[in-house]
Amino acid sequence: MAEKITPSVPHVELNNKTRIPQLGFGVFLVDPPEAQRVVTDALELGYRHIDTAAIYKNEEGVGRAIAASALPREDLFITTKLWNTDQGKDTTLPAFEASLDRLGLDYVDLYLVHWPAPQRDTYVESYRVLEGILDSGRARAIGVSNFLIPHLERLLAETGVVPAVNQIELHPYYQRRDLVEFGRSRGIHTEAWGPLSQGKSALLEDPMITAIAAKHGKTPAQVVLRWHIQRGIIVFPKTTSRARAAENFDLFDFELTPDEQAAITNLERDLRLGADPLEVN
Ligand code: NDP
Repeated sequence: MAEKITPSVPHVELNNKTRIPQLGFGVFLVDPPEAQRVVTDALELGYRHIDTAAIYKNEEGVGRAIAASALPREDLFITTKLWNTDQGKDTTLPAFEASLDRLGLDYVDLYLVHWPAPQRDTYVESYRVLEGILDSGRARAIGVSNFLIPHLERLLAETGVVPAVNQIELHPYYQRRDLVEFGRSRGIHTEAWGPLSQGKSALLEDPMITAIAAKHGKTPAQVVLRWHIQRGIIVFPKTTSRARAAENFDLFDFELTPDEQAAITNLERDLRLGADPLEVN
């Protein structure tokens, strides 16, 4: 497939006015030795938003790709995340600084508490450290991931900065409408992880998706990503294939009709494929 550079990725304004490209590139399960090549491909294709995490063990490769790209830092949007075992009032800051070191950056654009890990009961104190990091300018925005409504409610009650995002498992088979709506009503933007259902379901072979794809001359993955985009969700599909990275970036020359959007929304099956946030500790 011919590669096409699409410059016009829409941006979303987060609750502190930071702007984030609505389409990015995720690197979960990208092997550390491969990360530099994979992220270099993504940057060459036009992606400017990269989503990593300390636990992915590939921040160094991401950092090398950023350095080698010679792109102006302000053109990039880099997210990383605090791992569960680093939560705590004394351990969060060193973990953040180690991530910055591995990335070779002075600041990240978004820093997230990766899981609420409720049995640890340290997400509130950890998030307070993130507030200090935000104050220091070493993160342009802060937020959370895999938080459920009670965790968000507690954070809103006990801390001062409304999370800019909540990054959650989200795809047509698992839409989390209450959680997305709760976020929307509080200024917390939803980011989708597993937007393509991680290849763990038959989503990309779903007859509804394949029929809509055929109508538009697009692939099932493009249709699913476009559905997220038109709902205002931030996505960063992962692939180690340059051709699929190009495919996933090519979303802005077609539009799903309201009926097509609704038909995909009707595919909801409450099918969680990843871990239960109450059980990851
Ligand atoms: P995705 O839904 O992005 O799916 C990735 C899978 O789909 C891979 O197996 C990939 O295979 C395949 N794929 C990618 N593009 C295509 C395509 N065009 N056609 C067919 N198959 C395709 O799942 P992820 O879990 O990777 O989620 C995206 C990102 O979200 C992660 O990389 C990470 O940054 C973040 N994330 C965050 C979590 C959290 O707890 N906060 C948890 C999980 C993910 P291949 O590589 O072979 O192309």
